Amino acid sequence: MKDNSKSGRIKLLPDSVALRIAAGEVIDRPFSVIRELIDNSIDAGADKIDVYVKNGGIDNIRVVDNGRGMSREDLEICCLPYSTSKINTLEDLDKLNTLGFRGEALSSISACSKLEINSKTREGSAYKLLLPKTSNDPVTETWGQEGTLIDVSNLFYSIPARKKFLKRPSAEATACRKIFVEKSLPFPDITFRFFSDNVMKSFLPVSTLKERILAAFPDLFNKQLIHEFSTEHKDFTIQIIVGDPSLKRKDRRYIQVYLNNRRISEFALVQAVEYGFSEFLPGGNYPVAFIFIKIDPSLIDFNIHPAKKEVRFQNLTEIHKSIVNSIKSFLSDFRYNYSTSIQNADPKLTQLNEFKNIAAEMGNKYTEGFRPSNTNYSNFKVSDRTFPVDLIQKSKAVDSNVSELPESRNIHYMGQIFNLFLLAEVEDKFYFIDQHAAHEKIIFNELKSKYNKIQELLVPAIFEIEGNRENSFVTDLEKYSKTGVSFEDLGAGRWQLISVPENCIGNESIIIDFVKKQKGTISDLETELYADMACKSAIKDGDVLDKITAVQLVKKTFKLENARCPHGRPVWFQVSREELFRFVGRL
Ligand code: ADP
Ligand code: MG
Repeated sequence: MKDNSKSGRIKLLPDSVALRIAAGEVIDRPFSVIRELIDNSIDAGADKIDVYVKNGGIDNIRVVDNGRGMSREDLEICCLPYSTSKINTLEDLDKLNTLGFRGEALSSISACSKLEINSKTREGSAYKLLLPKTSNDPVTETWGQEGTLIDVSNLFYSIPARKKFLKRPSAEATACRKIFVEKSLPFPDITFRFFSDNVMKSFLPVSTLKERILAAFPDLFNKQLIHEFSTEHKDFTIQIIVGDPSLKRKDRRYIQVYLNNRRISEFALVQAVEYGFSEFLPGGNYPVAFIFIKIDPSLIDFNIHPAKKEVRFQNLTEIHKSIVNSIKSFLSDFRYNYSTSIQNADPKLTQLNEFKNIAAEMGNKYTEGFRPSNTNYSNFKVSDRTFPVDLIQKSKAVDSNVSELPESRNIHYMGQIFNLFLLAEVEDKFYFIDQHAAHEKIIFNELKSKYNKIQELLVPAIFEIEGNRENSFVTDLEKYSKTGVSFEDLGAGRWQLISVPENCIGNESIIIDFVKKQKGTISDLETELYADMACKSAIKDGDVLDKITAVQLVKKTFKLENARCPHGRPVWFQVSREELFRFVGRL
């Protein structure tokens, strides 16, 4: 065996090598640069952040912000390893409210690319830092507005092995845009823009969180189908934005969990979202859900992953439970109103309008105000978008479409439920018929069409009418008699009802009550009379019908011209085959 004990094999790596190895951990691909630079711009308090990539970020990445900037002294050291303005001691990690804290992004980026930083604080002059150094003092005075511009080119020129593993520029550009969107979502108070090869691909103006999500994914969603709610606990709050179950997906791409403004990949919480949706989505489908958790920084540890994607929680179980429960209870309540909320939406139109607004705003507002750059603003193109059309139709409660049901249609009676609804399948629609309302309307129509046969009462009904009402009653007498209702004056405010339409026999009291109280016009009397009579003689809620009666009733119901009861309530509720299939996620 060879003895190595004398000459030590362990050597300290030269700084240049060590730095590049460390850089490789933080900066993996172009999107990692974007991730770090956006973090820095957000930490610098910017409210406008522009990101430019060329050739998928392989040739150039530029991030421009209007944040607080850096002084000459800051610029001199910002690219040294472990230089940070965000923490001083380990304890500071417990009250961390910045995205960065390790002080290794700029040093890593400068170790593997050509870097230029232009920066200006409010009070100071503008300075430029160029790395790698070409002179003793890499910082020079320059001009510019308050804020910082960071330009990264020739990525991985110093780590050829890494460069070899870059993907096609289009794939790198997609990854850059994806991280851009993820970074922007928790910060709707900041305007973000993303340009790829000088074409603006994303424009995210200041908005609400929900609007930010809609603007970030314009091809996917529409406003009516995105819902927002939140839940609060002692140690954390969770804001939840979910897509309607009808926006189901085949992958988990749109289940995103953010913790203290960083997207994290904590599978337990992704699963919590899935559990919450489990009763509302068919198997193999995944919901759209964005979860924003805010928690006291002392209860979590982000310092376990170079890109801070993983995190240790103290109350993971509670957060998990709270996500499952709040999604479940929201969806159950919501499903109750499901058809109502959907029928108000015209997704295609909403989407189109929203897009138009954004396009208009883009034209008006955002042609000025940013730092000068190579990009010619008049050249912005907005990539084509398609607008999804969700075809869930209105669940109609009758009225207009009764004429669609000629007698010849194949009516399939299915039975009775809740002692009230008769169920019938008619071609591609299913009907819940309110047996009482339907029967009432049928009787009402029959009564009205037969009333002209007049019947003298064998025993006239005597009543009194108050003096102040008698006059107008007298003027209406003729109109009453035209409907078959005749009275005789007995003097001293006493009258007797002597004839009524044949089918009203037995309902004299309704007529007398109407007349005495002078409830309305003659046609109101008709409606009242017949509606009341119909209501009284119609089968009631709770009556169990034999099949023959039920089928007859169903058939007659479908002949109604206006399927509303005399009081105006709909006689049935209909749902189409397509709607049902959608409700269970088959379409
Ligand atoms: P960290 O963000 O962890 O502090 P970085 O290497 O990303 O480390 O940045 C080093 C320091 O440079 C930051 O702490 C900050 O003070 C400064 N800095 C970086 N980018 C910006 C920026 N866009 N605006 C103002 N200051 C910045
Ligand atoms: Mg940073």
